[in-house]
Amino acid sequence: MNTVRPRALICAAREWDKLVAHVCRAYPEEGCGILLGESGDTDGLVYLRMVLPTANGWQVTAERHRRFVIPPQSIIFADRLAARAGWEIIGFYHSHPDQPATPSAFDADATWEGTFTLILSVRARQLADARAWWKSLQQAEFLHTPIMQCD
Ligand SMILES: [Zn+2]
Repeated sequence: MNTVRPRALICAAREWDKLVAHVCRAYPEEGCGILLGESGDTDGLVYLRMVLPTANGWQVTAERHRRFVIPPQSIIFADRLAARAGWEIIGFYHSHPDQPATPSAFDADATWEGTFTLILSVRARQLADARAWWKSLQQAEFLHTPIMQCD
């Protein structure tokens, strides 16, 4: 968890591709998962090291095109995996099928402060937009943060 607003989210291309493939496959339901990584010591960058796709555990199947929940056992698993690798949970991702990549009121309630909420807009099973939103400890609103890819 970060207390200072990051300058950018840096994504390894291979993990990014995994994430995009997952949310396109989940369409027209929301796909979701967990982001593991680490913060640069002084550069203000957060590095996404591993994407962990999870099930959409929202109980009402007919609502999964606009609702998601990450199963708690997946978060526990991710937390242990991160600890072993020397990483942490840096955020969560989910898709917005046929909707913009901006946080909903529902997202605002579901987000951990000091982490990224990565939202992917998917239309016709293709990625239309991707935006990383960071929620600070001090401020309630989401702050848009650039996504950069690396090898
Ligand atoms: Zn959402």
